[in-house]
Amino acid sequence: MSTNVNRPGNLSQQNFQHLMAQAPVAISILRGPQFIIELANSQILELWGKNENVIGLQLTAGLPEIKDQPFVALLQGVYNTGVTHYGHEARVTLVRDNVPGQYYFNFVYQAITDTDGSIGGIMVVATEVTEQVLSRRKLEDAEERLRLAAEATGLGTFDLDLQKGVIIHSPRLAEIFGRRSTDNISHAELRQIVLPVDLHIVIGAFDRALQTGIYFYEARVIWLDATIHWIRTTGKIIYSDNGAPLRMLGTIQDISEQKRILDDLQKSEENLRLATQAAEVGTFDLDLLNQSMVWDRRCRELFGMEDFDGPVSYDNQFLFGLHPDDKEKTDQAVNRAYNRQLSNGEYDVEYRTIGIDDKKLRWVRAKGKVSFNDEDIPQRFIGAVLDITENKLNEIRKNDFIAIASHELKTPLTSLKAYIQLLHVNARKSGDSFLLNALQKSENQINKMTKLIYGFLDLSKLESGKLRLERHEFDLNALIEEVTAENRPIAQSHTITFSGGKPIIITADREKIGQVINNFISNAVKYSPKKTDIKVSAQCLTGQVKVSIHDNGIGIKLKDQQNIFQRFYRVEDESTKGFSGFGIGLYLSAEIIELHHGKIGVDSAEGQGAEFYFLLPA
Ligand code: ADP
Repeated sequence: MSTNVNRPGNLSQQNFQHLMAQAPVAISILRGPQFIIELANSQILELWGKNENVIGLQLTAGLPEIKDQPFVALLQGVYNTGVTHYGHEARVTLVRDNVPGQYYFNFVYQAITDTDGSIGGIMVVATEVTEQVLSRRKLEDAEERLRLAAEATGLGTFDLDLQKGVIIHSPRLAEIFGRRSTDNISHAELRQIVLPVDLHIVIGAFDRALQTGIYFYEARVIWLDATIHWIRTTGKIIYSDNGAPLRMLGTIQDISEQKRILDDLQKSEENLRLATQAAEVGTFDLDLLNQSMVWDRRCRELFGMEDFDGPVSYDNQFLFGLHPDDKEKTDQAVNRAYNRQLSNGEYDVEYRTIGIDDKKLRWVRAKGKVSFNDEDIPQRFIGAVLDITENKLNEIRKNDFIAIASHELKTPLTSLKAYIQLLHVNARKSGDSFLLNALQKSENQINKMTKLIYGFLDLSKLESGKLRLERHEFDLNALIEEVTAENRPIAQSHTITFSGGKPIIITADREKIGQVINNFISNAVKYSPKKTDIKVSAQCLTGQVKVSIHDNGIGIKLKDQQNIFQRFYRVEDESTKGFSGFGIGLYLSAEIIELHHGKIGVDSAEGQGAEFYFLLPA
């Protein structure tokens, strides 16, 4: 039997086999319909992961793992038809070193004809391409991932051959330039889509990229429908070994929306700037994380340094610019705003500044808000400052007027009271009951007027910071007894009761505390119907004393309760029709209690009477 695989006629069978064994490719000859492994050179044995023991065996016996793979059928096809089969990157499962694995091969199955012309076997020539296939797959995977990432972020990608000027781009890139995703756009066409006035930006960036290797620009493109869109391009140049630019790889993003938002933001900032300018409001912005502070021009003006453009800081400009008497209170207000539990970040304070450069005194109202992180740590403090100098000066003038007027009224009133008391003595002697009654009423009115005038005097003292306490030790019960006794003749319409007890000794301003109790009692009389009871009580609690005055009058709505301690606040509704007043009594009382570091309050409901109280440290 002789084999004919284009064997040159002068080559013996032995020599032929020797040649094949030496060939640099993997070769095997499978003989007969059983595919007996007649010849397998060392290369193919290595690819199969087998040794020479397989020679002489049936293929499926030597390589049992290929039984369930398509190769036996392919071999049969070639054996039956004589048609050569070429396999390209075919995946084969082979057991190498007892471990099954996937490998890839390019191979040829070629029929071997015997001398009689019949097919006697098949020659297998194979080269392994596993590594190429796997690395190509990896590359494809990486490209796919990149493509997906680019798609997910809406990025278009491009690869420009700098030598030939040919560009390959992703479908998304075409869309960003206003074309169909299936369109292929050349580099020159892309340039034509750029808005002509922005073309210099693109060309400039391109020239720079050739120098620096980095490509970046933001420019506008004009779509076929004439709409204009913003794009941002970033790229990198790839160089050859000798430094010649080969390719430019990059991404393009549609940033129209970002630009629009930025534009809107700039517009609204501009509007805010114009509005604050018109209202002459200054603004400040304190970044608490890196302790940087920004003051606008108006804010600088209010600190008397309008020509100073340099950086400002909390200590060097803010605290330094404050009037010495307002430093502590203002610093406290800021620290309070930093405490979320105390203030919820709200800041509202009035202070004076002494111009850092111009030395002018200004009154300022500042309002701000602190923002916190989840751990309640303050992050940022922003706010506005307003010049209230004019209002303040008017207020001061008004206070001065009140102070002078009430002071001037005091003297004639005192002598009026003295005369009336004199007349009282005479009337009592004469027993003229009409006169007695009339004089008693006059005296009551004078007392009322005196209280009012003292109230105004105290108010102006308070406003100018001149209201001072004169603390002494005294018995609180004795004071209450005294004040109730004083009120009884004036308020005969009501029954005022006080069941004092053991002395309660406290250190406080006796006269001022008396004034507060007096104010509570007069209000109780004023705001409750005739013939009702007013109960005064005092009790010792742990570390403090409490005085309360309970009446059965018109009561106070919850919403008004928060305001009645404010200056000039009066409840104005059906229930208070016909009651006159100035709304300063409770304000003064609250300030007096505050000066004593005490607490003032009210428990009431509309139509249910009221209980006013204050607590003082014992
Ligand atoms: P005035 O009594 O002069 O208006 P006050 O400062 O003493 O000023 O009181 C403020 C407001 O509080 C009053 O206008 C009144 O509406 C309300 N008020 C005070 N005391 C009482 C009370 N005992 N019962 C009901 N309302 C009261």
